[in-house]
Amino acid sequence: MNKDILKDINVLYVEDEDDVREFTSKTISTIVNSVVTAKNGKEGLEKFQENKEINLILTDINMPKMGGLEMCSEIRKTDDEIPIVITSAHSDPDFLKKAIDVKVSAYAMKPIDLYHLIESMIKAVEPIFLRKKLEHVNLTLANKVEEAVNQTKSILDAQDNMVILTDLENPIDANKRFFEYFEVKSLEEFLEKYNSILDVLKQDSTLLNKNIFEDSKNWISKLSKLSEIDRTVKIENKNGEDRVFTINIDDYEQKGEHYVISFTDITELKEKSNLLEYQANHDQLTGLFNRQKFNEIFKKEIKREKRYKNNLSLIIFDIDDFKNINDDFGHNVGDEILRVIAKVLLESIREHDCVARWGGEEFLVLLPQTDENGAKKVAEKIRKAIENYKKDDVPRQITASFGVTRFKEDDDEVSTLKKADDALYKAKKEGKNRVVVF
Ligand code: GH3
Ligand code: MG
Ligand code: MG
Repeated sequence: MNKDILKDINVLYVEDEDDVREFTSKTISTIVNSVVTAKNGKEGLEKFQENKEINLILTDINMPKMGGLEMCSEIRKTDDEIPIVITSAHSDPDFLKKAIDVKVSAYAMKPIDLYHLIESMIKAVEPIFLRKKLEHVNLTLANKVEEAVNQTKSILDAQDNMVILTDLENPIDANKRFFEYFEVKSLEEFLEKYNSILDVLKQDSTLLNKNIFEDSKNWISKLSKLSEIDRTVKIENKNGEDRVFTINIDDYEQKGEHYVISFTDITELKEKSNLLEYQANHDQLTGLFNRQKFNEIFKKEIKREKRYKNNLSLIIFDIDDFKNINDDFGHNVGDEILRVIAKVLLESIREHDCVARWGGEEFLVLLPQTDENGAKKVAEKIRKAIENYKKDDVPRQITASFGVTRFKEDDDEVSTLKKADDALYKAKKEGKNRVVVF
């Protein structure tokens, strides 16, 4: 780590927890020039506006009065360049997108690991440091002078991020990190192995705007015009594992001829954000969709049904006498049975049918392109599969009761569910372990 590049930096550090703020600011003040602290986003914004010397922002996300990302988006209105380091990963699945929108340079997860925090601060400051140095060297890459080359090299090698220098068509140089990542010794060796930098970027529809891959010549200028979220790419490392990077492109001479491209590794953050998204949409116990996600899908399917009229049916079912099972065998066995039911359920339906845990021991199945007869057959199939399930993880025969209905023209989510629920109620009243169509 090259801590020296932090020694002239003035940090604004925003954190609402007093002891975290005190401890962290004390430590980082030994390696930077100065630290200004604030207790929330509002105070942070005020201090930023009154203190023109600040050249790095370090902020928490969740804070009273004004959150970190909100503060950063205010700051971005007047300052497009200042590096921002976020000191927490957030429980909001939108977090990554928001963070990228305000151009966060680096992340340090909480609880704060000081080594990692410093590493993140270095990463954040590097591009600016690099640009200043390059301006200072006043380097014209097209006609490089030996001395200038050596100087650039040492600057580049000091960077924590992977960095390459390139003109519009060909890479000119890269740093040590870059060569280490691809296990090559030189740019020549890299180009023998891969042809072009474009070749190492994995085409992944969820990550990168695909049309940049169509033209191997113009990809840099195309890429530089994309929003930051679209400049996220996957690159395989030497262990064969995909890492996720955001690419920053700096046209440091402002001539559109030469670019410094740096890659910031956001793999852990992306994983965390995917995990949070998964948790927000799925039921923890069974792994099925939860109520919230089901409603989202239900709404979409209703819209589609109103347009195409292909039939849409809904099954609701509820385990019979589940309270007794809990009472007789304990809650853990009850939980295990819920997992078994989810498994049996998934085995009984088509891939594009949507299943969810609606609540305690109630489940929903949404069946596009299926009328009530078809839905009744599916319900029967699930009912039998549950009734016939015999394995050690279930101490006695389990049964469930089913209500089935079809979406009709004047229905909405609420009325459709109500119809299915009424049918279920009837199935219970008529003796359980049966399917009733509304
Ligand atoms: P019915 O046949 O009329 O549906 O009777 P029932 O006993 O299944 O229905 P009731 O609504 O009286 O009881 C539902 C039970 O489901 C009570 C509750 O403790 C249990 N339950 C709900 N969620 C869970 C869970 O996550 N785990 C376990 N083990 N039990 C749960
Ligand atoms: Mg029940
Ligand atoms: Mg119930």
